[in-house]
Amino acid sequence: MKQGMIRDSFGRHLNYLRISVTDRCNLNCLYCRRWDFSEYFPSSEILSYEEMLRVVRVGARLGINKVRVTGGEPFVRKDVDYFLEQLVRIDGIKDVSVTTNGVFLGEHLEKLRAAGIKRLNISLDSLKSDKYRLITGRDVFDRVWNNIMAAVGAGFEPVKVNVVVMRDTNDDEISDFAALTLKLPIHVRFIEYMPSSRYHLDQSRQMLTPDIMARVEKHGSLVPDGGRRGSAPAEMFRFEGAKGKVGFISPISAHFCSSCNRLRLTADGKLRPCLFSDCFVDVKAPLRSGMTDSDIETILKLAAIKKPKGLVDDTNGAMMPGVMSAIGG
Ligand code: SAM
Repeated sequence: MKQGMIRDSFGRHLNYLRISVTDRCNLNCLYCRRWDFSEYFPSSEILSYEEMLRVVRVGARLGINKVRVTGGEPFVRKDVDYFLEQLVRIDGIKDVSVTTNGVFLGEHLEKLRAAGIKRLNISLDSLKSDKYRLITGRDVFDRVWNNIMAAVGAGFEPVKVNVVVMRDTNDDEISDFAALTLKLPIHVRFIEYMPSSRYHLDQSRQMLTPDIMARVEKHGSLVPDGGRRGSAPAEMFRFEGAKGKVGFISPISAHFCSSCNRLRLTADGKLRPCLFSDCFVDVKAPLRSGMTDSDIETILKLAAIKKPKGLVDDTNGAMMPGVMSAIGG
């Protein structure tokens, strides 16, 4: 490993930055809802694109080479295409991807492609429009589905469809989601529901990967696909002869802390080394008080040192310190 790379106290090299460009979202998903009526960050507290780009430029010198743009919903922030274009151009950044709910995706596909972005994660928790509305609070299933198909048609690769599985809510659709991969070249990834605050869906909704997998296997046996998982969170499989893949993300039943290579930058300028811990290092005040790039380097390294070895419960039993829309899922 080169000198000066971002390495945590347990020897993990952090080369992946997830940036939440906004905490606002146009959907209001059951598991990501602000039941506590907390406010959105005021706009003065949100990092400008230039501030975010500066953090990435400094991070790239320390070995960050992979960036995912998420939210909230990234496409509700104005001019996000400009930000994505600039990110792709940063020396050392090899991989820029986006996680979106897909509602506004159609309008951005051309620009994403022109910027050289190929990898998209799209959240979709139901294939039925009524249930989609129940889960997200908005009646936009058709629009999201058409945008997923448009992304596939436009050659984005891979298009990953993320499904948060909730017992008695959408677990009856596991099999239908898995079947999509037989004909479509997409990756359907089932995610274990993570409780993010005491106000959320109760624990009984949680369904763990072994149960999800058993339902998927009703279509036939799954063949492991993708070699060693490395730092990727999903374990990937394929049905014999299928065009797409099926993946399982198991933060609860088989958490992947030992290979975690991530840092998160929230829209309000906090560097969070772990999704499941409340620890963070503020980078906004330093950015706004004339600190040098070398000071920003030190702050990135400090955030890395604070990365816990594995799951810690410093969130009062809530697992995650807040809703994902504020942290950036
Ligand atoms: N708005 C974008 C979207 O819908 O994909 C990006 C932000 S969203 C917070 C990122 C991902 O986090 C989504 O795939 C969402 O399903 C997932 N997510 C949010 N809360 C979750 C929870 N409590 N458990 C599991 N996944 C969650």
